[in-house]
Amino acid sequence: MKIICIGRNYSEHAKELNNPVPEKPIFFMKPDTAIVNNNDPVYYPEHSNDLHYEVEIVIKICKKGKHISEKFASGYYQEIGIGIDFTARDVQAECKKKGLPWEIAKAFDQSAPVSSFINKDKLNNSKSINFSLSINGIEKQVGNTEDMIFSFNNIIAYVSKFVTLKEGDLIFTGTPSGVGSVSIDDHFQAFIEGDCMLDFVVK
Ligand code: MG
Repeated sequence: MKIICIGRNYSEHAKELNNPVPEKPIFFMKPDTAIVNNNDPVYYPEHSNDLHYEVEIVIKICKKGKHISEKFASGYYQEIGIGIDFTARDVQAECKKKGLPWEIAKAFDQSAPVSSFINKDKLNNSKSINFSLSINGIEKQVGNTEDMIFSFNNIIAYVSKFVTLKEGDLIFTGTPSGVGSVSIDDHFQAFIEGDCMLDFVVK
């Protein structure tokens, strides 16, 4: 399986990193070795001195598709979870400056802790999902998927023009504003509609 991540999908977050608001979805990928399941701890990566958190709603692809039209895109995901797109911000800044790819800033081992998944039909409104991140009990990021620049269906249609989506693939759908630095011993808790879905510690 693969992990596709959307960048700059909330305009307030694009602004906080001094990035332009995109006209088309921006995506990059992480390998399956980035995933951390079962609320296992995450180890602060040795190659960064400025690890950042980005809380994101994650959708799980439920059937294979290529060139999926927006009209049918909602049939390609059934389950929703929440994850952290850990980013070595110092390394990413260096990559951006030199015009290099982002893998060492974004795709390293344990860079994608992810929760268990819930059926989207169990949510009151799967187009307006409230989510948040607390660290050490203090709320750091709050988002609602209505504020996404590109909807889940937009994302599926766009990405599947270039990359065949397969059952089990995950799409991280972008982070709202409020990203920041991680410290060792931080306790992460991520919530969907007030339910704690992800709960782990950084070591
Ligand atoms: Mg992100």
